Amino acid sequence: MEKVVVVGGGQAGLSVVSKLRSLGFPGIITMICGEPELPYQRPPLSKKYLTGEMEKDRLYLRQQSYYTENAINLILGTRCEEVDSKSSSVKANGQTISYNHLVLATGSHPAKLPARLGGDLDGLYYIRNLADIEVLKPEIDNNRKVLVVGGGFIGLETASALISKGLHVTIVEAADRIMQRVVAPETSTYFRNLHKDKGARLLEGVGLQQLMGEKRVDKAVLSNNEVLDVDFVIVGIGVHPEDSLAREAGLEVSNGIRVNKKGQTSHPNIWAAGDCTSFPWEDTFIRLESVQNAIDQSETVASNIMGAEKDYEFVPWFWTDQYEAKLQISGLGTGYTKIITRPGNLENSVSYWYMRGDDLIAVDAINDSRSYMVGKRLLKQGIDVDPEALENPQTDLKRLLKR
Ligand SMILES: Cc1cc2nc3c(=O)[nH]c(=O)nc-3n(C[C@H](O)[C@H](O)[C@H](O)COP(=O)(O)OP(=O)(O)OC[C@H]3O[C@@H](n4cnc5c(N)ncnc54)[C@H](O)[C@@H]3O)c2cc1C
Repeated sequence: MEKVVVVGGGQAGLSVVSKLRSLGFPGIITMICGEPELPYQRPPLSKKYLTGEMEKDRLYLRQQSYYTENAINLILGTRCEEVDSKSSSVKANGQTISYNHLVLATGSHPAKLPARLGGDLDGLYYIRNLADIEVLKPEIDNNRKVLVVGGGFIGLETASALISKGLHVTIVEAADRIMQRVVAPETSTYFRNLHKDKGARLLEGVGLQQLMGEKRVDKAVLSNNEVLDVDFVIVGIGVHPEDSLAREAGLEVSNGIRVNKKGQTSHPNIWAAGDCTSFPWEDTFIRLESVQNAIDQSETVASNIMGAEKDYEFVPWFWTDQYEAKLQISGLGTGYTKIITRPGNLENSVSYWYMRGDDLIAVDAINDSRSYMVGKRLLKQGIDVDPEALENPQTDLKRLLKR
């Protein structure tokens, strides 16, 4: 009987195994999960789960009964230590497990603040795993002072959750503006104003010089020499792909595990999906950290294990919730030449359309799901957009969908 082993029990790992079973894969499926939890969704960790508005049980992608009914051997709380591609087997907790197909869905891990900056002090928190939130929760109390290092999605979502719990929040972002890596200045400005209106102190172009304290952090020196009193610190300075197993197994690795359009690594029986991969996009390789990518890439891999010979074709999408604002992004804005702004129908709603020449390449829709849906369909169906019509606020967006 065919055997599939999946390493990693996150969104990507779960999506591979559920797609395999829904396609009728009859063989043995084993999932090796480093965390002691059933596979769960991460987005609420910096949003409603952090504020206490969501129960732990709702985080789980499937309940235990699903794995039992679908004959998925879950090995929880166990890290895979080695991949031996010659004998087609992996080692985990002293056990050797053989496979016909191996899927690496190992995700990513937070970049750590170096010890020379005070990264080894107590009172520092990262937001990646459920366990990270459990240790952070006791720190969350009215009027406490928190420094958030990093104005990317995770830092900003966490800041908004902590403001809503009555904490005093300072955010420092070393780059010129928040979310610089992903969005245009227009979107950064919208969220800068929002954070300031809600009472966060947001410093852009200001980094961290040093965290200080005996054993536990109590002060932070910023790059502008300002000294802050802090009760604790959240570090959100990006993630690294978890590609060490692949590297040690001799697979091609470059900013993540290299895969082709089918999701196959440099070894034909080893596949990879999700945050850990670097995959072809236009004329380069990219890595995405999003739920959409984890699901769609995994489903492509599962189909290809079943012999489909399918390429990973997709329009990237992503969302972030900060206070009452929902930003939905469709497409990738890299290399845009112009932004078209369209006010939305509701107060505080707006969309920014990224053009490269006359081509639409992405849209950021804030509290404007209509623009998001239309933008996503335009991108998916490759429909040419008349920039003048898009620019005209009187144009009914749905008309743009007609070729
Ligand atoms: C706080 C937070 C908020 C987010 N919000 C959003 C959002 O709003 N929208 C969005 O689109 N995306 C969001 N993301 C990103 C999204 O959650 C990730 O892109 C997605 O979880 C990637 O899934 P994955 O399965 O590739 O990786 P992961 O979810 O990281 O899962 C990988 C798993 O593999 C395990 N593992 C690693 N190595 C081994 C090993 N050797 N042996 C066994 N197990 C191993 C890890 O422990 C982990 O459990 C957020 C992420 C975080 C952390």
